[in-house]
Amino acid sequence: MSAGTVLVVEDDPQVRLFLRTALCAAEFRVVEAVTAAEGATLARSHNPALILLDLGLPDADGIEVTRSLRTWCTAPVIVLSARGREEDKIQALDAGADDYLTKPFGTGELLARIRSALRRVVLSATSASMTVEAGELCIDLEKRVVTRSGVEVHLKPTEYNVLALLARNAGKVLTHGQILKEVWGPGAVTHPHYVRVQMAELRKKLEADPAQPVVLITEPGVGYRLRV
Ligand code: CA
Repeated sequence: MSAGTVLVVEDDPQVRLFLRTALCAAEFRVVEAVTAAEGATLARSHNPALILLDLGLPDADGIEVTRSLRTWCTAPVIVLSARGREEDKIQALDAGADDYLTKPFGTGELLARIRSALRRVVLSATSASMTVEAGELCIDLEKRVVTRSGVEVHLKPTEYNVLALLARNAGKVLTHGQILKEVWGPGAVTHPHYVRVQMAELRKKLEADPAQPVVLITEPGVGYRLRV
């Protein structure tokens, strides 16, 4: 049985070959497009479970493509970006991409990100998961209770709000801008240090070694992720 259809939008033939090989070995059905225009057409005709989108396409900016896909398509979008293009990743995430992979990436990382994105779709569809578990942490979003190895941890309201946002998006990267907007409101997006301060406090309370976090992960230059 197929694990689902993945649409690959990528103009580099070598990257396409790598993706096709890795995805087919993992039982995904693969549909390939070389341009943004072709990608949009195939997204409509094949209704893929997930889209892998190169940000550097010959006919359009991948960020614009993401924004346009988001107006009608609910499949998770993982963008493929070159190293050092943090600004592109942030814009793509803010435009509605679910995650990004930095080239070059390995098969293990590719499949882990895909599975994580597909799992979030299932979870949000069933909305059964009001409790998020990450390492030793358990975050009960209904009762607003956080425990670490079974022991309740007391968080200040803003700390909890940041953690709850990451937990509702478990596994997904959130940009500094997205966290600021959701927790503090649109007026706060120019104050990234608000997030840094709260993350430092959360790590002190929730990580065994706050300097080597294993759950509250920094995505350098982009934002944060709750690793599950
Ligand atoms: Ca390219």
